[in-house]
Amino acid sequence: MGTKGKAIVGVDVEKLLTLLNKAYADEWLAYYQYWVGAKVAVGRMRGIIAGELEEHADEELKHAKMLTERIITLGGTPLLKPEDLLKQTNCGYDAPSDPDTISLLKQNIKGEQCAIETYNKLLEFVKDKDPITYHMVLEILEDEVEHEEDLESLLQDMS
Ligand code: FE
Ligand code: FE
Ligand code: MG
Repeated sequence: MGTKGKAIVGVDVEKLLTLLNKAYADEWLAYYQYWVGAKVAVGRMRGIIAGELEEHADEELKHAKMLTERIITLGGTPLLKPEDLLKQTNCGYDAPSDPDTISLLKQNIKGEQCAIETYNKLLEFVKDKDPITYHMVLEILEDEVEHEEDLESLLQDMS
């Protein structure tokens, strides 16, 4: 990254890189959980729910892309091995072993709630100290809040 671009980052860059990589792990796992969940989904409102899960998968992949670009700009390296995704994740991976649409919704709501908590903490960490990362994290957090809301209203429609 440019000298001045780095100089304006007012937090410990190594610590920030660790947090960004942990979020990056979450995004790949969320992507996969949504993507494969959409494929295996069965039960009520299958078509609509699979469509929503696919859309969210795309958005999680977009988040992974945003995070990796910031990691590289800050002089870091994104996690290179799939096993590191499982080691570094904050929110874990919940295999969609029960493909029923209601179970999938509940599982992914839990994941979004963890994502919201994670990004809210990250936002606090960079607040007033790294405006570029702050702006990016805020954008991601807005998507996660929307994801939770989308899934909760689908679940509500079904009850
Ligand atoms: Fe995400
Ligand atoms: Fe999400
Ligand atoms: Mg949505």
